Formats: sequence, C-alpha cells, structure tokens
Amino acid sequence: MSIKGSCCCGGVRFELFEPPLMLGTCHCSRCRKAGSGAYAYVRAEAFHWLAGRELVARYHPKPPMKFNRSFCKRCGTSLGDPDSGRILAIAANCLDDDPGVAVSFEEFTPDAPPWEKPA
Ligand SMILES: [Zn+2]
Ligand SMILES: [Zn+2]
Repeated sequence: MSIKGSCCCGGVRFELFEPPLMLGTCHCSRCRKAGSGAYAYVRAEAFHWLAGRELVARYHPKPPMKFNRSFCKRCGTSLGDPDSGRILAIAANCLDDDPGVAVSFEEFTPDAPPWEKPA
C-alpha cells in the first residue's frame, strides 16, 4: 500500500507504506505559527521520500523546545519532522490520500486562540 503526501508546490513528495499509528492535533502557538497542527505519527521504516528532498529546509528551535520543523524552501509548506526519530511526526496537511486514521487526540487545547475552537 502507499499513502502519498506532498507540499503545496508539488516539489516535495513522499509516501507511507503503512497507515499512521495515530493522528493528533496540537493547538500550541509554535505549531500554529509553523502552519501545522495535525500530525500523523509514522514509523520511520514506513516513510519514503519520492522527490524534492533537496527542497526541504529545517528549523531547529532553541532548547528546551526540541521538535524540529521541516518545510519546503520553495512554497513554505510545513512538513512536520520527517527526518528524526523512530516515530516521525508528519504534518497531516501534506497527505494527499486518506490515511485511514482520524485524529484521536488533541494537545495544548488551553493554548488555542479565541478564534480556534478545539472540540
Ligand atoms: Zn513546495
Ligand atoms: Zn504544538
């Protein structure tokens, strides 16, 4: 099986060989500013780059924050953190196919701004 994902300009493309373990939405200000909030948690072995890896830039936040932010240099699409760890947090906004899994938890809901209403 293959679940495809890509950035807004189509330069960055990847696929997943199995459904994500789970999906979760983060409402913290950092995810909000990075332009992503829902993440698909995927085993590293199940993630495969198809194109545009050279377009991927990374932002490494200052400690104690440790969640790296990857994005397409050309269009700015948030990709999550597809390069570190055994379980990768892939920005769900990049998925083109139905991952077969829906969001099952939410984090940092008290940090959500007034215009956003977490369930
Ligand atoms: Zn792009
Ligand atoms: Zn967050």
